[in-house]
Amino acid sequence: MIDSHCHIAGPEFADDLDDVIARATGAGVTHALVILAADDEPEIAQAAAVSSRWAGVRFSIGVHPHAAGKFAADTDEAVRRVGRAIDAQPLTRGLGEIGLDYHYDFSPRDIQQTVFRKQIALARERRLPVVIHTREAEDDTFRILEDERAADVPVVLHCFTGDRGMAGRALDAGFYISLAGIVTFPRADELREVARLVPLDRLLIETDSPFLAPVPLRGRRNEPANVARVAEVIAETRGTTAAVIARATDDNFVRVFAP
Ligand SMILES: [Zn+2]
Ligand SMILES: [Zn+2]
Repeated sequence: MIDSHCHIAGPEFADDLDDVIARATGAGVTHALVILAADDEPEIAQAAAVSSRWAGVRFSIGVHPHAAGKFAADTDEAVRRVGRAIDAQPLTRGLGEIGLDYHYDFSPRDIQQTVFRKQIALARERRLPVVIHTREAEDDTFRILEDERAADVPVVLHCFTGDRGMAGRALDAGFYISLAGIVTFPRADELREVARLVPLDRLLIETDSPFLAPVPLRGRRNEPANVARVAEVIAETRGTTAAVIARATDDNFVRVFAP
């Protein structure tokens, strides 16, 4: 099993990283894609500590839409920052998370869009898959992904929370859909419908740790071991076994990220 998206190089894990990794590998999680924020120096530095403890770790680096506003005066600097971080981290296998977040609107929308576009261009140049964060910004996200020809590289919609319509749009565009612990929440019936319908060869699973702990751990710090719970709930929804979900999502991860 593979956790396709987590933030274990963050400060929430600094004190007990060894235990977190031991629980993950003990639960059968062989690999994790650890997201690094290019504008977060301590997180970039902590990547070495993470990869030295867990051989199955790979990285994806980008400027999150929440942080795009830091580069309002010089959006090219965001791209240079990501490029330098990629150059410095040989285990980089993805570019992201990047995208648009109109729910929180922590960065002005025009700046989010510009930083998003420029990072897609960098991903195409580097031939890296993109990990997309999109919240309440469906139309602009799809428009920009199309404008910038993102589909030249694999595209993953991480922590997918859209409805069946949005899932269909993503699948038609050739994108992958990554499901997180939200799929276990009681009121997530529409998302479980999506989980039932996504073709097995387009599905990924993730925790987004430390966020979004699945039921029955809600409210606690999340960690990669809990990706097993995501696989179980998707399996129940589809009337299959967690082993089937694990194998398919492992294969997809290898195809997309060439770990
Ligand atoms: Zn995200
Ligand atoms: Zn994330």
